[in-house]
Formats: sequence, C-alpha cells, structure tokens
Amino acid sequence: MTERNVPFFNYPALFAERGDEYVDTLREVMARGAYIMQKDLIQFEEELADFLGAKHVIGVADGTVALTMSLKASGIGAGDEVIVSSHTFVATAAAVHHVGAIPVICDCLPDSMMDPASAASMISEKTRAIMPTQLNGRTSDMNAIGAIAKEHGLKIVEDSCQALGASFGGTKAGLFGLAGSYSFFPAKTLGCFGDGGAIVTNSDDAAAAIRQMRDHGRGADGKVRAFGHNGRLDNIQAAILRLKLARYDDAIARRRAIASRYQAGLHDVAQLLLPPAPDSDNLRFDIFQNYEIQAENRDGLREQLAAKNVGTIIQWGGWMLHQFDDLGLRAHAPYAEEMSKRYMMLPMHHMLADDDVDYVIEQVRAFYA
Ligand SMILES: *Cc1c(COP(=O)(O)O)cnc(C)c1O
Repeated sequence: MTERNVPFFNYPALFAERGDEYVDTLREVMARGAYIMQKDLIQFEEELADFLGAKHVIGVADGTVALTMSLKASGIGAGDEVIVSSHTFVATAAAVHHVGAIPVICDCLPDSMMDPASAASMISEKTRAIMPTQLNGRTSDMNAIGAIAKEHGLKIVEDSCQALGASFGGTKAGLFGLAGSYSFFPAKTLGCFGDGGAIVTNSDDAAAAIRQMRDHGRGADGKVRAFGHNGRLDNIQAAILRLKLARYDDAIARRRAIASRYQAGLHDVAQLLLPPAPDSDNLRFDIFQNYEIQAENRDGLREQLAAKNVGTIIQWGGWMLHQFDDLGLRAHAPYAEEMSKRYMMLPMHHMLADDDVDYVIEQVRAFYA
C-alpha cells in the first residue's frame, strides 16, 4: 500500500468537515449577543435528554466539574471513601478529592473496565460509593457492580465522560446512579470547540440542585441558597453541540464500523489483545471513544508506526492512576500495572477512511511479521 498519513486525531479536519455551518452558527449566535444560559443551551439540553431518553440534562463547563457536582448531588462528602478504577483519567479521583472524599483505587480487567471483584475487595466501613469509569466508550459490568453496591448499601456515581450513547442491558451509560457525567472535550465522541460537559439525571430534585450548583448557587429567582460553582456550559458551545448531536448516531455507527474493520484485520495477530468487537456482547452497546489495544513490544510498535506516519497515544501518558505516586493513593491494582506496559491506542474517529484503517492494519501486521 502507498504511504499515507494517519494522525491519531485530526483537529483541523473536524472543523473543515462542516466549517461553513459552524461559522454561520457562530455569527448568528454572536450577533444575538447570546453567550451565557441562552436558548441554544436550553435547546441543546432538551435534545440531549431526548437522545438519552432521560428526564434532565444540565449543560456544565466541563466533564470534571460535572463529576464534582454529581458527587455532591449524590451526597458524597468529607471523609467518605469512593472506589475508583486505576485505569481512568485523574479527573475521576480529583473530583472525589475536591468534594472532601477519599479516592480508593481498584484494579481493572483486560477489557480496560473496572474489576468488580477488586472493587469489592477495597470496601471499608467508610466506603460510600463505587465510581466506575465507562472507559473508551464501553460500560463496566453494571450487573456485578450494581449487585455489590446493593449488598453494601453504596451509591453508584459513574464517570461516563467517554461513553455518551453507550449502554449496558438497555440502560445508557450515565443513568446507573443518581447523576451521570459527560465531557465535550474536542476529541471526545461528541466534542465542542473548547471545554464543555453535561450531567444527566432522571431525578427532579437532583436536576434542580445541579442547576443551582452550576450557577453560583443561585436559584431561578437569582437568590443564592448555597455556595456553588461557575460551572455553566457556554451558550456558543451549546449551539455548536446542537449541530453535532444531530449527526451523532452516524458518528457512532462509523466508529463501530472502524472497530469491526480493525477486528477483522488484526484478530489473528497473536502479539495483540484487541478490545471486544462491537457485537461480541449482547448486553453492551459500545461507542468506541478509543480503540485501546495491548501489544507485545508496545514501544517498538509505536516507534515503527510513527515512522510510517501513524499516530498513536498511550492513555494517561502511560501511568495508571495509582502510579502518580505524588498523589499518595491507597490502591491495589496489579493487573493495571502489567497493562501499563502494554496498552496503547490506535487512531479512532469518525473521519477515518477505510483506506486509513487498512493502512494502520497493514503497518501493524508488518511490524510483527
Ligand atoms: C475527558 C474525561 C474526563 C473529564 O473531562 P473534561 O471535560 O476534560 O473535564 C473525565 N474522565 C474521563 C474518563 C475522561 O476521559
């Protein structure tokens, strides 16, 4: 195959795809002077709630503040322990820390999801919640986690920042606990042109509390009832997100098709562990935020791919959460430690052409041949 250039993610292409529409939207919204909590935000919240089949969506400033406010809304606070998977973004644990609680780190499974048995083994008398990360656009085993939570009287607070539209047993990621969080960071499956996030909930009370929290603790009448955050989703970003949400199902379908193509092209390479294929699991609908593999001689493979103009990334820079030792986290995650030497991500976004995917497959196969 002729040489190609397949960057890990292509930000300029993301704009070029629908550049005129984006610029027209910006002009229209800005000419109206509609920046904070205007109709575009309200419309986006309604449309995303429809997409999720949920009662309330509250647009917020980013995924991290979404996690923080969903923990607060769930009643997690000072001295509480929250069990978090080692294979997650630091933001999951930071949100726990910033509400005054203590993140306790458990192991993950070969599919990158929280290991429910490991989570159960970290429960103490201070544990109040389990916080599974629905990583890479896939959901954790919510039957097992739900059973553990029920047995020990724990709350579930999901980090579903990477899993907008994924589901498990017919329930959408984000709707297993009281309030779920999403991120619209530009490279997320539904990305805006800056920072953005949302919280989903079916509870009227939680929705009201979160609406107040995201706007400095003010009620609709302007009266401050508690200390809150400046945690609002910009109206301009909401207007852009409306455009993207209208085509979100197509973007997910494309990601799943790319995952199937990688699966067909790489399943027989003995040196690799691939993520579960799109239809390998009748409980789950995965949206493939990332295509994360485990590879023998990972660093050699990445170097070879880079030389062939294929971009790859190692999530979290190569450190699992408890390996940031300056954070001093209590942890037991031996599998994650092994995985940290082998894991990496291949290009995965809806703008990839079949020829791009085939080129990546060919270069990976050539490395191990
Ligand atoms: C992106 C992400 C977040 C936080 O998102 P921001 O919008 O960047 O604050 C949290 N958790 C996970 C797993 C993420 O991937």
